[in-house]
Amino acid sequence: MIGSHGIYALMFHGLANTVPPYFVFRDTRTCLILVEEFERLIRWCLKRYQFIKVSELDSFVKTNHMDCGKIILTFDDTLSHTVELIVPLLKKYQIPGLFFVTTDWATSEETPLVFTFEKWLWHSAPIEITVTINGHKRGLSVPSRAYVAEAVSELWRFMFELEFPPSQLNKSHIQSDHEDLHHLFADYESLAWKPASWDMINWALSSGLVEIGSHMVTHRPLTWLSKEDREQEMRESKTEIESKTGEKLLACSYPHGAIDEATINIAKAYYRWGFSSKGGSITADVDPLDVPRIHVPGERPDRVKLEVKYPHIMRAARFMNGL
Ligand SMILES: [Zn+2]
Repeated sequence: MIGSHGIYALMFHGLANTVPPYFVFRDTRTCLILVEEFERLIRWCLKRYQFIKVSELDSFVKTNHMDCGKIILTFDDTLSHTVELIVPLLKKYQIPGLFFVTTDWATSEETPLVFTFEKWLWHSAPIEITVTINGHKRGLSVPSRAYVAEAVSELWRFMFELEFPPSQLNKSHIQSDHEDLHHLFADYESLAWKPASWDMINWALSSGLVEIGSHMVTHRPLTWLSKEDREQEMRESKTEIESKTGEKLLACSYPHGAIDEATINIAKAYYRWGFSSKGGSITADVDPLDVPRIHVPGERPDRVKLEVKYPHIMRAARFMNGL
């Protein structure tokens, strides 16, 4: 079942009115969509699809005779700026949205350092820094702003090589002679990546169009954790979100899209639906704890039309590009 009669979950992160000039790293650019592009996409989908809530997913997945395709809008990380912009749009078009909350982020309301790093490098170039994680060192050279994207991807590669959770990067990991180092936390806040507070999450819920899911406690890739830690991430985030919002949680999304068989088995005890980041449509035989989503890249939002129309071709294209 593909094309206009399938069920598709779309995965968004940030929404903004403009793209900041320091957004040069591919992953941050592709995680941001402009409001006008988002609205264009919504209007395109409204002509062809019905927008549904995750609480309705069970009934539609089981029905093979759908009169039209279905769309579920999902937003990972529940960023403050995104919530502010999206709720009025959900009201304007009367469509539902599912927000995945990382509980430590909602409580601290602090942008994790890893998301301010790009902006800091952009403003600090030329700069040489050394990142030290668990005794391993990696030098990052940024002779000009043209090298910021490469330095940021090198940092992400380094963290993933060491299985070091990006959300835990802090100032003590970064050494530089640069005078601006002490401003790392204070002055380089990246507005687009500031997490929404519990108050804001509850404000979004009061629209009646928003559903909440778990994006775990700390946003660490679950596949790197012990069985006990994975369980704790799933259980504690669920309990906290339910107590802070009064909502019953049905869904989770896996940080960094990292899942394996063991993670899926643990998730079964806590959630009805688990959303991954691999593309495709939601069919009757889909594993409910490994539900595909289409990543909507901010730099090429029209790609979603191709994804929906030609999922097989796009899957091949992603494979070719190593995505
Ligand atoms: Zn995330």
